[in-house]
Amino acid sequence: MGRLGRTGPLIEPGTSPKDKQGQPGLFQAALSGLCPRCGKATLFEAPARIATECEACQLDYSELERGARWSGLLTIIMAVLLISAAMGIDIALQPPFWLQVLIWSVVTVAGILGGLRLYKTALLYAQYEAKLEKENADT
Ligand SMILES: [Zn+2]
Repeated sequence: MGRLGRTGPLIEPGTSPKDKQGQPGLFQAALSGLCPRCGKATLFEAPARIATECEACQLDYSELERGARWSGLLTIIMAVLLISAAMGIDIALQPPFWLQVLIWSVVTVAGILGGLRLYKTALLYAQYEAKLEKENADT
């Protein structure tokens, strides 16, 4: 995030602490569930549940997942948005009921799972970076 699609770097690589070399993009990380330390796909043990630790490098995920208590609120917000969208489409297009049920059950599950994964991954990566910076400051 915050990258504006520049072709050439305006600042030297490595000068910004946010520019870690070889780190996957957040969407990629959320989609595949990549560990922030070793990059293995070990982050999720269920579609939207983060594992307790990385199977490959034993990074403690549970310690990094503190803000995830807000994920219930996020689910509600997304559900409200999806219901609003469903009602808008119902008024505009008036599709048959069975089609709406089919579409919205798929969209709701995919949307909420995708949103939760992205949210939890973003949060965990932010916590991990904060932890790294703290460790660097200590030593
Ligand atoms: Zn790992």
